[in-house]
Amino acid sequence: MQKSFQVGAKTFILDQDKAEAAFAAKKVINGRETMTFNLLPLKYQWSYDLYRTMKANHWEPEDIPMGKDIEQWRDAKLVSDVERWIIRMGIGYFSAAEGIVGDNIQHVVRELVTAPELKLVLGRHAHEENIHADSLLYMISSLGINPHECEAMFEDVDTIVKKNEFVTRISKDLRRDIDLTKPENKKLLAKNIFVFGQCMEGTQFYGLFGMILSLYRQNKFPGIGQMFRYTLRDESNHIEVFRNLFMDLIEENREIWTAEFKEELRQTMAEAIQLEKDFIRDCLPVNAVGLAVDEFVTYIDYIADRRLEGVGLAPLSGGIKNPLPWLAEMMDIKKEQNFFEGRVTEYQKASALNVAKDDDL
Ligand code: FE
Ligand code: MN
Repeated sequence: MQKSFQVGAKTFILDQDKAEAAFAAKKVINGRETMTFNLLPLKYQWSYDLYRTMKANHWEPEDIPMGKDIEQWRDAKLVSDVERWIIRMGIGYFSAAEGIVGDNIQHVVRELVTAPELKLVLGRHAHEENIHADSLLYMISSLGINPHECEAMFEDVDTIVKKNEFVTRISKDLRRDIDLTKPENKKLLAKNIFVFGQCMEGTQFYGLFGMILSLYRQNKFPGIGQMFRYTLRDESNHIEVFRNLFMDLIEENREIWTAEFKEELRQTMAEAIQLEKDFIRDCLPVNAVGLAVDEFVTYIDYIADRRLEGVGLAPLSGGIKNPLPWLAEMMDIKKEQNFFEGRVTEYQKASALNVAKDDDL
């Protein structure tokens, strides 16, 4: 079907069939190669919806006051060494992890997917990783932690090194010129999306989320806790982006969804769980006030099962009850209606504190 437009002396003919063929050629991978970034008509509606949700959740680290955190960090009577160590591990691990996720999106996943609306949401996802990385920089500079110490943590704390290696090894194998018509390479990409979305962001981020938000509940490090709440809200969208991407990739490439591949993914999750449990024991070498190691360890089994079920895989543990039900409630930031109203005053307070801090130096 053709439609012609007569404009002055010129006639333009637009071919509807060609446009429909272009739409039909939209695919997660191996779709139409185009530089035109034509979002419409949308084929993957979820990706546009999530893009809009993510954009509406935008936050900036420097809007969050750090005065109370600074005071607590400096005063041995206000927080214990165990609590301070959890914060160091949080800052040390996430400083590396946020960058690794962002790099994998930009150099692997966003390069390899072909539908423009998928690239759109992945661009936003990568940007949110930049915000998270920036929030860690803000925490480090507010507390006056030596940045070299933070860098040393990714190299010297064995459980952090292992968690990082677990994800980077599946990223390095996949770069832009890989042939995605081959089933083994399709599996590599599907595994990458599963590892980053469900194992890393979906499971291995949750040990520290639990510990840091548990401190936040006790009014310890409220600024850091608030940033982690916003980060956690973002991560729940990232997990959903990667879950949908994974499901559509499988749907369009059913030949890779074999019993063997499913089991490989479940075993990969089992490895992720083990690494996370070892890491939790490094973060919390002894039980402290309100922080029981076993609860966080059980929480990892619980959350990993949810992630497996989310992508149509059988759970590993099965039947575990959530030992930290308050964490789900804390994620629901929508309840805080006055957040945006409170923002301006909070920002002013934060600036005033920054001035005071500079004077101290
Ligand atoms: Fe992040
Ligand atoms: Mn993320």
